[in-house]
Amino acid sequence: MKSILITGGAGFIGSNFVPYFLNKYEDYYVINLDKMTYAGDLANLAEIPANHPRYSFVEGDICDRELIAQLFTEHNIKGVIHFAAESHVDNSIEGPEAFIRTNVNGTFTLLDVARKYWMESPFTYKDAYKDCRFHHISTDEVYGTLGKTGLFTEETPYAPNSPYSASKASSDMIVRSYFHTYGMQVVTTNCSNNYGPKQHDEKLIPVIIRKALGKQSIPIYGDGQNIRDWLYVMDHCKGIDLVYHKGEAGETYNIGGRNERDNLYIVNTICELLDKYKPLENGSYKQFITFVKDRPGHDRRYAIDATKIETQLGWKAEENFETGIVKTIEWYLEKYKETVS
Ligand code: NAD
Repeated sequence: MKSILITGGAGFIGSNFVPYFLNKYEDYYVINLDKMTYAGDLANLAEIPANHPRYSFVEGDICDRELIAQLFTEHNIKGVIHFAAESHVDNSIEGPEAFIRTNVNGTFTLLDVARKYWMESPFTYKDAYKDCRFHHISTDEVYGTLGKTGLFTEETPYAPNSPYSASKASSDMIVRSYFHTYGMQVVTTNCSNNYGPKQHDEKLIPVIIRKALGKQSIPIYGDGQNIRDWLYVMDHCKGIDLVYHKGEAGETYNIGGRNERDNLYIVNTICELLDKYKPLENGSYKQFITFVKDRPGHDRRYAIDATKIETQLGWKAEENFETGIVKTIEWYLEKYKETVS
């Protein structure tokens, strides 16, 4: 049995990943460490039985060096998949400090405890660290913005524009340095925008669904023409699984679904689907779309070139936006059935 520390497993992507990972592998013991900020929700993990023999949940902070060191020793942790982060760009504009603390200092703390445990511990045999792996989950936002053409590759220079993306870019660099300086077995994945079940209410797609169902204005930034490369969350989880097990140490892999859609397309598609699922007496949900002042530093277009993970590891997104959004809407209709009339 190998023990793996998964951080941020009560958040959106982590809580899709943890049950998937537990079900797929019987030889891992999973320790899910989450601080339970406003973004964590244990209801997202309700499908894991309370007495699961290979799972434990620890409420705690990735900045807490003592706690992390204790977890490494207690469980002889051999791997880390690091999701925990402050993740909402709008919040990073209002209050960047928490982003630097968790995303930069927290990632550093985790990495450094792992390095000491794996590479300096008197209990480990020579070269034991080669069996250990630290997987850092990051974003395509580190690359900044694209014009009308072009795609982000793993070679695209970093040019983050928000405090969120700058904090993620910083953590990516620290992770990279631990490979080049210490030879630690690290991998990083930079993924495009995720959507799907369990995403926090503050994010674009849940906001659109909730506001529409509540017959409230659906806020769309600027002219609605910002483009994101949307990836269904389970496709991301499968990509992480593959990179964690088969990716090459020291490498980074971009993960994206080749599903570039602008925000106007997203909101119109969701409204059209809701028109079918829960028709209004009068007109379409589109009547609630409202354009609001653009977000400062709002990147215009992100799009991922996923050739490396596709050709080297055989990953491919299984959902396109039009299939993934149907599953997503069905999940939110169930979630909001009692709270939104
Ligand atoms: P989320 O905000 O839904 O979840 C983050 C989780 O981390 C929460 O459960 C929160 O309680 C926990 N957390 C926050 N600070 C912590 C701390 N100091 N110590 C321990 N736990 C803490 O985020 P998400 O959307 O699931 O994103 C997960 C990761 O994936 C992040 O690193 C994010 O940068 C990255 N990412 C997200 C997307 C996306 O579209 N959501 C795309 C690419 C990359």
